[in-house]
Amino acid sequence: MKIDRRYFLELLGVAAGAALIGTADGAEASGLPVSPGAVGCLVDTTLCVGCRKCEQACNERQSLPEPEKSFDDLSVLESVRRPDDKSYTVVNRYQPLHMTSTDNLESSTYVKFQCMHCINPACVSACLVGALAKQPEGPVIYDASKCIGCRYCMVACPFQIPAFEFHSALAPEIKKCTFCFTYLKKGELPACAQVCPMQVMTFGKRVDLLKAARWKIETNPGKYLDHIYGEHEVGGTSWVYLANRPFEKIGLPSLTAAAPPQLTETIQKATFQFFAVPLGLFGLLGAVMWATSRKKESDSDHDAGGEE
Ligand code: SF4
Ligand code: SF4
Ligand code: SF4
Repeated sequence: MKIDRRYFLELLGVAAGAALIGTADGAEASGLPVSPGAVGCLVDTTLCVGCRKCEQACNERQSLPEPEKSFDDLSVLESVRRPDDKSYTVVNRYQPLHMTSTDNLESSTYVKFQCMHCINPACVSACLVGALAKQPEGPVIYDASKCIGCRYCMVACPFQIPAFEFHSALAPEIKKCTFCFTYLKKGELPACAQVCPMQVMTFGKRVDLLKAARWKIETNPGKYLDHIYGEHEVGGTSWVYLANRPFEKIGLPSLTAAAPPQLTETIQKATFQFFAVPLGLFGLLGAVMWATSRKKESDSDHDAGGEE
């Protein structure tokens, strides 16, 4: 059965972020880590053609550096890439094992990947100074002014998303997808979702996206695996995926439904067990960050890019 997209959007009851982001109830009020009104994105990998328009839109909206190869150059799909400090999202191509790059690429699966904006984010619980925070609306947001550069978030993330600006000698920051939060609050869509010519991404309330994903699976027998990736993995993620091939074969790791507090607790336990060392370390890092933030203030006419 062909999906009637209009019906699909009616099911979601949304087409843009304006009404949504304002309806998220306070997480504190509900006692849940995130509001039932929190937003997310459903990525239907069966629709993606690997055009990289989403990468380009993200690059432009976030004022990221120009890539070495243009976004029209699809040769980058010959190797698997990861998001980094200069690319908050990447699209990778996965082919069945027997295929070569010269075979018909129609059976390839293209997968857009970025921060999953986990419901119970390991990066947030690993961060000792609250530089990463889960918003009641759904996004996981980084505050450079609080960051001490310890990079525990990088160790903790089950998707290896936070990237550190190693090349920046003065004020390195953690970089990752922001879910275009600044724009969501203004009623705009994430740039990547807005630009996609194949409408691979559907933005909406996470609870509705899960219903829509289930509806897609049930009304298209055989088209999708009966698995919504991110519904349960690591306690649930805001970005959820549909596919017709096992997720571990298309770059999305097999993870249990348990939120990953184990590693973060280990980090924190070690931190407090050997408190004297981190205290000295944090003092040193704090001094460095203070000095660099002063330097940044004095360079305030230089736009660091991003959403601000
Ligand atoms: S813009 Fe859409 S179709 Fe193109 S690569 Fe990105 S997700 Fe796929
Ligand atoms: S994917 Fe990683 S960086 Fe993103 S919210 Fe989850 S734990 Fe944090
Ligand atoms: S939501 Fe925004 S920051 Fe995240 S990948 Fe899409 S365009 Fe980039």
